[in-house]
Amino acid sequence: MASVAPREGFIAPPRRPVAGSASSVTARPDETQPLQAPAAWQSQLARAIRDPAELCRRLGLDDAWRPGAEAGHALFEVRVPEAFLARMRPGDPDDPLLRQVLPLGEETAATPGYVADPLAEAEHSPARGLIHKYAGRVLLIASPACAVNCRYCFRRHFPYTENAPSRAQWDATLDTLRRDDTLHEAILSGGDPLAASDRQLGWLVERLDAIPHLRRLRIHTRLPVVIPDRVDDALLGWLAATRLQKVVVLHINHAQEIDQAVIDACARLKNAGVTLLNQSVLLRGVNDSIDAQAALSERLFEAGVLPYYLHVLDPVAGAAHFDVPDDEARELVAGLRKVLPGFLMPTLVREIPGEGSKTPL
Ligand SMILES: *Cc1c(COP(=O)(O)O)cnc(C)c1O
Ligand code: SF4
Repeated sequence: MASVAPREGFIAPPRRPVAGSASSVTARPDETQPLQAPAAWQSQLARAIRDPAELCRRLGLDDAWRPGAEAGHALFEVRVPEAFLARMRPGDPDDPLLRQVLPLGEETAATPGYVADPLAEAEHSPARGLIHKYAGRVLLIASPACAVNCRYCFRRHFPYTENAPSRAQWDATLDTLRRDDTLHEAILSGGDPLAASDRQLGWLVERLDAIPHLRRLRIHTRLPVVIPDRVDDALLGWLAATRLQKVVVLHINHAQEIDQAVIDACARLKNAGVTLLNQSVLLRGVNDSIDAQAALSERLFEAGVLPYYLHVLDPVAGAAHFDVPDDEARELVAGLRKVLPGFLMPTLVREIPGEGSKTPL
């Protein structure tokens, strides 16, 4: 959820290839250029843990966790970058970061009301790479890939095949934006848009920059959290170059995700003129307490990030064990309001297909 419903992709691309592979590339502005050596973050992405047995072993979990991890992995593969793994407590199966990425046997259970495509996106297949649902802002699928596979993701059932727009298709998408002067904000989503290369992103942002009615560039991403080295000079270069106002919406669910490297990455983004916001998902066993939510907001602010949305779970098959009922969610948020200043309160929302905005609960 490098996906906007935390999931930087509130809109699923029809397909999602493997992050870090050549196929994760979406914009291909200059395919004819020679290949460059991968950036440090790209190497880290390529080395992410993809084996459930290795994940259990590295975290010192006993063998009882293996069968569930293998069964869940068969449905939606494991993907955990080392930099994220390093923030987990070894030997603790209840670690709130591990819970987000460790497959469980429960994922194989069918639960009434939990479906493969909870936002009915397959029925509303948008123009390639472009989703215009809300007034004034438009969403671009800049990369269908993700750097981490979150077990609660509403896009977990999309097939891992490439569906990246070609250069010609990007030109058509950009033309659509040029023709509609009611649009003021372009939102890069995915997947995780920052899984695309800086060459591709720089190409795209330069073209957005040249559209006079666009004022803002928004990026929904989990990459600076799971691989803080993603915020490197190349990324800061194209960010600093644009006249557009910049907003980065991070996706962090728990205070423990924010270590010094994340704080430093946030500082680099701030220095490049970026406004930093966070969205999270309310998850059973991860952040479903007033204490956890208060600690998250406080820690976000230490990193210079303001809470934006707290999403309730989308009813995606395989994630029912993460659900927190609406009444409990409202009660939790009411309790949170008693311990936090108003500016550290996220807005509790649900995404309802067909609505013109997120729906506050
Ligand atoms: C969530 C979403 C947005 C952004 O909504 P905000 O309330 O502005 O954060 C934009 N477009 C689509 C399609 C979305 O799903
Ligand atoms: S898998 Fe995680 S990072 Fe990727 S879209 Fe889903 S929630 Fe976001």
